[in-house]
Amino acid sequence: MALFSGMDKFGLKDIKEDEIFVDQEQKKADDKAEEVKKKEAEELDFLIDRTYECPVCGQEFKSRTVKSRSVRLIGSDMDLRPKYQQLDCIKYDVVVCPRCGYAALGRTFKNVYDSQKKAIIANISQGFHYEEPAGVYSYDDAIERYQIAFANAMVTKQIDSEKAYLCLKMAWCIRGKMETLDKNDPKYKETVEECKKDENEALKLAMDGFVAARSKEQGPYAGMDQSTLDYLIAVLSARFGKLDVASKLIASLMSSMTTNPRIKDRARELKEQITQKMKS
Ligand SMILES: [Zn+2]
Repeated sequence: MALFSGMDKFGLKDIKEDEIFVDQEQKKADDKAEEVKKKEAEELDFLIDRTYECPVCGQEFKSRTVKSRSVRLIGSDMDLRPKYQQLDCIKYDVVVCPRCGYAALGRTFKNVYDSQKKAIIANISQGFHYEEPAGVYSYDDAIERYQIAFANAMVTKQIDSEKAYLCLKMAWCIRGKMETLDKNDPKYKETVEECKKDENEALKLAMDGFVAARSKEQGPYAGMDQSTLDYLIAVLSARFGKLDVASKLIASLMSSMTTNPRIKDRARELKEQITQKMKS
């Protein structure tokens, strides 16, 4: 723009026409989109496409996985949901075969019995269609992957602890979604309410499943020891108002010699929270 050219003689930058009257709403949206893009690019740096061979249909496929050595754990929620500095790793824990629909947590992906393979082919594979999302997974992508894994767990008659653990991780994903929602979105309040409802539903299922597993299974429970399982039941019971169940479990965790120290600390913290809840 000629009107404001030659400003460099004052040591100033020239003013461009499109900088003068800016649509503030548009600018906000552009900045937001820019920020999201930047975060996605950062997240992508911590991901790698790993090749899997499907134990059900034999197909080779790639699935996005976290380069686990490069992310830093910065804490955890009361129900042991881990939090990482760079990204939410929980989004990437489910592996889905895009051809036959078999899906499970990476930890158990290879473990399928012949009878389970048959059940998957008969009940999942027919009509299954899914495309691995390009780039980073949104929380909705991740929640869908947990849904597919859960459908597989049902069809293959997984034990209660495994089904409960999937529900717990799905709840963690929903919580992650809730934490990252845009507060300026006109639908923000509505979406938060939906998420809260879904999170509670998933956590309630997790609690019921863990209680059932405790009475039926020998352990380990989805890779967890007995004290971790008892602690989780205590946390979830407290959340749903069963303070007596929670208090009993905490007392036994704290007095037991076999409780691991990390869980003992968390149990102490939970006990304080429950005491405060009872007072108020
Ligand atoms: Zn497959």
